[in-house]
This record gives sequence, C-alpha cells and structure tokens, in this order.
Amino acid sequence: MYVMAPQTGCTKLSPMNPSLSSIMNHHYDRERDRTLPSSRISELLGKYDRPGPRYTSYPPATEFKTLTPQDYLEALQERGDHALPSDPVSIYIHVPFCSSPCFYCGCNKVVTRNKNAARKYLDHLRKEMALLRLQTNLHQRPVTQLHLGGGTPTFLDDAEMTELIHHTAHYFNLVNHAGRDYSIEVDPRTVNLERVQLLRGLGFNRISLGIQDFDENVQRAINRQQSVESVRELTQAIRSSGFRSLNFDLIYGLPLQSLESINATLRHVIALSPDRISYYNYAHLPDRFPGQRAISAADIPSASVKLQMLTSIIGTLTAAGYEYVGIDHFVKKSDPLAIARKEGRLCRNFQGYSIDKATDLVGLGVSSISSTGLVFAQNATKLEDYYLALDMNQLPVARGLVSSVEDILRRAIIQQLTCYRSLDIETIEAEFGIDFAQHFRIALVELQQFERDGLIAWTDSKNMIVTPEGALLLRNLCMVFDEYLQRNSVASPVFSRAI
Ligand code: SF4
Repeated sequence: MYVMAPQTGCTKLSPMNPSLSSIMNHHYDRERDRTLPSSRISELLGKYDRPGPRYTSYPPATEFKTLTPQDYLEALQERGDHALPSDPVSIYIHVPFCSSPCFYCGCNKVVTRNKNAARKYLDHLRKEMALLRLQTNLHQRPVTQLHLGGGTPTFLDDAEMTELIHHTAHYFNLVNHAGRDYSIEVDPRTVNLERVQLLRGLGFNRISLGIQDFDENVQRAINRQQSVESVRELTQAIRSSGFRSLNFDLIYGLPLQSLESINATLRHVIALSPDRISYYNYAHLPDRFPGQRAISAADIPSASVKLQMLTSIIGTLTAAGYEYVGIDHFVKKSDPLAIARKEGRLCRNFQGYSIDKATDLVGLGVSSISSTGLVFAQNATKLEDYYLALDMNQLPVARGLVSSVEDILRRAIIQQLTCYRSLDIETIEAEFGIDFAQHFRIALVELQQFERDGLIAWTDSKNMIVTPEGALLLRNLCMVFDEYLQRNSVASPVFSRAI
C-alpha cells in the first residue's frame, strides 16, 4: 500500500541529463497511446513472465535473516551519534486490524469484529515508543514523515486514534511545518466527514483511499463493496477539510476484471482526480496468503490480458495528465514526486516512491520494517511474538539484514532503474569506484537480450534508457542486477510474477 516514508539507502542522483530527459519524454509522448499486438504480447510473456521481487527495497525483505534487537539498537545509536539534531526521521506505524477480509489481500492483518482488539495493541505500541525514547536520541530529531498503514488504521475509533497520535507526539518530535508529510491509509467504508475532519485536526495532511476497483461484480468477487457515490462524497470531504494530497490505491488483475471494466474504473478515477494513483498488479499466491483461496483462479485475467491492462492504464492516465513515475505509481505533473523525479531526488521504498527527506525510517508495530545506517530490521510478524518481546522490555525486532557494499552498489542501480527508468554508468562508477563493464560483465550480456527486444536503448556507451515497452517490465530489468536472485538461481515461489 501507499506510504510516504523513505528508507535508508536512497541514492542521491544528479538531476537527469537534460538531453537524456528530452529523448525519454519524446519517446514516451510518442508512444503513450500505443496498444500491444497479441503476437508481441506472446513474445514478451514467453521471455519475461517470471516471478521476482517488487524492489521496494534491495535486498528484498525475503533475504532478511536473524537480527537481534541489540543489533538494531546499536545501529540506531551509532546513527544517532553522527546525526545532526536537524536530520529528519520518518515513522511508519502499522495497525493490523480489519473488520472484514478482502479476498485479494496479502497484508499482515488480523481480521476481527472485536472493537476492543486495539486496546492491548495501543498499549504495546506505546511501550515500543517508550523503549526507543529511553535508549536512543531519535526524539531529538524532527519527524518530517509519518505514515499510518495496515491493516486498517481507521479500525481505531476516534478516541483510540487521538490517543495514538498523542502518544507518538509525546515520544517523538512531531512537527507542524507545512513541508511535513503525515499520511494515513483509509478504508472508505470506515470514515465519514466527521472522521476525516478529526484526522485533519490530528495533523494528517495526506490521505490514501483503498479503492481497488469500481466495478460492482469485481467488488463482490473480492469482498470489498463501496459505491462510486460514497467515494465521491468522501473525496469532497477530504478536499474541503484541507488535505494537501489524495491518493487512490487501485489493483489490476483482480477476478472478473476485463479491459472494459478497467477502462470504466479509470473513467471514474480520472473524474475524481486524485493527486496520486497507485495501480498495483494483483499477485495471486494462495499458498502464501490463504485468504486468496476464496478467489477462483478461473476468474483471474490471464497474463496477456494483464499486460494489455497495464498498457491501457499507462496510456489512459498519461493522456489524462498523470506522469508514470515507475512501478505501479502515477502522479499529477505538478506533484512534488514528479518534480523530485526531474530533480533527481526520488526514492523507491517499502511502500512505493518518496522524496528523499529522511534517511532513517522507524517502523513501529507488528511486522513493521525499519532502516537506519546499513541495517534493515523487521519486527515480529505475529501479534503474540510482538507482545511477548515488549512484555520482556525488549524491542520486538525479529529479523533483518546488514547491507554489504555490494548491496549498496546494486541498490543504487535498482533505484536508478525504478525511479528514472535509466542507467547512468558514469555516476555509478564515480560513486563506487568500479569498472562497470568488468563488474557487471554478465549483467551487460543479459541486457543485450533486452536491447534486441526493444526494451532498452543505449544513448551512448554509458547511458541506457528504458523504452515504453521496457517500462512494463521494469522488475525484470532490476532482476538482472539482483545478486540474490541469481544466487538462488531459480526465482523463489514467494515472489509474484512480473506480469
Ligand atoms: S486489503 Fe486492507 S482492509 Fe482489506 S483485508 Fe487487507 S489490510 Fe484489511
């Protein structure tokens, strides 16, 4: 789902070379209405439809191994020793509860109708914050980005939500300046005008609405029914309450979707005019997410239809004035993310894209991921383990990873590909002191196939751009530079297919 929080390791890149930028824009403008002939779709599917990570981090979270709470604490303390008091911090808080299951869902969640379920959780979240305040100096630094995700954050009632924000403000340095990004994921079925106003009053200035699809048959098939009218009213309430930005989360590849139904949903979306759109590719992994067994595989669009859907989504949204940021994400051309992309300040992170403001991400709550310095740390993914660690006065970290130099190098390349759909080899060589051709000899051979297939083009020997068709297969391009995937030789079944 959508979030504003960045992670450590966002590579600062120079603004894109202007001539490269104009070549790319021309390329995209010229081709944005293009549809793919079926022979071309078959060709691409045959070669590239294989499982791989979504590259919201590198290494992907599937590579996290044992990491102790003490390891994480030491990383935070070491960063704290070197950070300036003005260095910003980003906070993500996970609220895992949902009132009913959406059948497509792959999130870490607890479905319950027990409205008191959040009480114990809020007490433990408070304890986690208190432990961090006691043992680190994070609270001295400004929190420029805050995100509540889930689950359903608005499962919390008004008093609980108010309590959570007050506790966060007590243990961290929440700020009140206009440049802050404080965002929350909202299930449209759980809020009305009054609740929207409460969220605004608590300091949130961005909202992300979980829409998924507007077609009634699709909504029934995924067990998530919400009318266009209710979303329209909510959209008006969000605008009139003074939120700076509205995001819609949508999904393609859901059961009973067709090209026609996707186009009808897009018409409603464009009329409602959200500032940002996340259009995710549904990953059907019923062995990993048992709730998805309620979806009949026969109702899921084929890979070739999904590829047509993605082509149509990109074409329709760019024609409507949105910029395709990269994997799954679109923003209005005036949006700070679009501007950051032009200026080389864009990052890809655990939940999407972000502007590079904070370099330390503190994840709070069950399953949350933090990153600081070289360390990724993930909290326990089961509620009982999360509670147990905190009852023992320990941070609930269960696993993680310390990035190697090679990880950081490959992360920088993957960030270039996912944020800018380009590869600037000179920048990488200068930053990491490597001979790219020698270091990535095998990867460069693999890229030859992408070039023959018209998915990338070299503007000179050191600069590569991704073509509009290549943009449909960005994950595959990243896989070329994924050392873990190559080490495991066969793409892990825990990943969704790239198409
Ligand atoms: S999609 Fe969101 S609201 Fe639906 S079950 Fe998953 S976490 Fe809960």
